[in-house]
Amino acid sequence: MSDCIFCKILNKEIPSKFVYEDETCFAINDINPKAKKHILVIPKVHVKSLNEVDDNMLIKNMFDAIKKINAKEGIKDFRLQINTGKGAGQEVDHLHIHILAN
Ligand code: AMP
Ligand code: ZN
Repeated sequence: MSDCIFCKILNKEIPSKFVYEDETCFAINDINPKAKKHILVIPKVHVKSLNEVDDNMLIKNMFDAIKKINAKEGIKDFRLQINTGKGAGQEVDHLHIHILAN
């Protein structure tokens, strides 16, 4: 999607360091971290939010990625967050899972 910040990061229109990448998703450090480690796991396909997901494989792939990212980053204790909808604080309308670890 042309005006989506995460699609722009994926397409290298906005510079960002990928901490992880596979066929279905990628991960970056949050620009405004709310924990010592704050990583965003983002599907490569533009899906607005969890409410729009109709392929559960996408969710499985994201959770597989989370396990690999945590192993790579040495994260053992962590929280996951998926803000869904403006009322829940979703700022970027491209599905993503926050990994938060202190
Ligand atoms: P949410 O409120 O769940 O939509 O979360 C969006 C997150 O994206 C926020 O935690 C922002 O700090 C983060 N964010 C926005 N722009 C960027 C960026 N260019 N690089 C990394 N993280 C970003
Ligand atoms: Zn997008």
